[in-house]
Amino acid sequence: MDLDSMKRILDYSEQEHKAIWEIVLESDMENRMVSREASWEKMRHTWRAMVESADAYSGDLRSRSGLVGGDGRKVSDYYETHASIGGTFTAQVISQALAMGENNACMRRIVAAPTAGSCGVMPAVLIPLWRREKIPEDRMLEALYVTCAIGSVIASRASISGAAGGCQAEVGSASAMAAGALTYLQGGSSAQICHAVAIAVKNLLGLVCDPVAGLVEVPCVKRNVIGAMNAIAAADMAVAGVESRIPVDEVIDAMGDVGRRLPVEFRETAQGGLAVTPTGRAVQQRMQQSRKRYRTLTIKDSRWKLAAAQPDQTENGASDA
Ligand code: SF4
Repeated sequence: MDLDSMKRILDYSEQEHKAIWEIVLESDMENRMVSREASWEKMRHTWRAMVESADAYSGDLRSRSGLVGGDGRKVSDYYETHASIGGTFTAQVISQALAMGENNACMRRIVAAPTAGSCGVMPAVLIPLWRREKIPEDRMLEALYVTCAIGSVIASRASISGAAGGCQAEVGSASAMAAGALTYLQGGSSAQICHAVAIAVKNLLGLVCDPVAGLVEVPCVKRNVIGAMNAIAAADMAVAGVESRIPVDEVIDAMGDVGRRLPVEFRETAQGGLAVTPTGRAVQQRMQQSRKRYRTLTIKDSRWKLAAAQPDQTENGASDA
């Protein structure tokens, strides 16, 4: 079936007595013409890549701009030595979200979920919970199938791209996907998954995309934290029985509408919000100068290499342009 309406997925789930993850699995088999095992193994591969990326984090890494790096480790050092305000689990989620955002900014391998900029949200909530509750891997894969339904509906009705719909579409979508997965893992019903998605999207509605110097670093890395915390709050509310007064598909449509109306300055152009603060502009200028310097060095460097590779010609002055 087409995954373009949470309501349709929910109705089908209730009529057929099928979990959302099963509906997505069947849809994947049909769309990609693969066996159940092949679909399952692809999802396992994605999950393991996510865990490997989290485990590969190093607090010593810094992004090329120098703006990002080491914060994930700071928070993990903090919760290991202090009683953090939100408790250890919350601190682990924060640390994991920062670490994955930093992995992305430092060009490490990540799983875009749904995008690279928002890659920290899902692992931030799923990995600490998986470890704490010792959840079987297959159940984590089921939760990932649930996230696919949510991401697919948002992509088809609204957007998952910051350039098209602002950060509400990127971190907001990741947060909604994570909220749905958490609700599922907490034993929530399909209807509760839909409420969790609606609540998560509503809470981040209108969030603009304003990356400093056009780099997916500031404020992106820390926004993954709010996406993760929002997902936990939305899932806990939904499982507790709190309902979204606005149906989930209408919430997603509203997010699409807000995204389309956002001025271009707030859609990944680095022309608005934090990107044009005095500090944001100074960073941009510094990056432009360093890019220019880097380009000059590269050109000189390649001329030197060319000369070294063709000594005869150079000696004859043939290529010493
Ligand atoms: S601010 Fe823009 S680039 Fe950064 S995470 Fe949000 S949508 Fe992505």
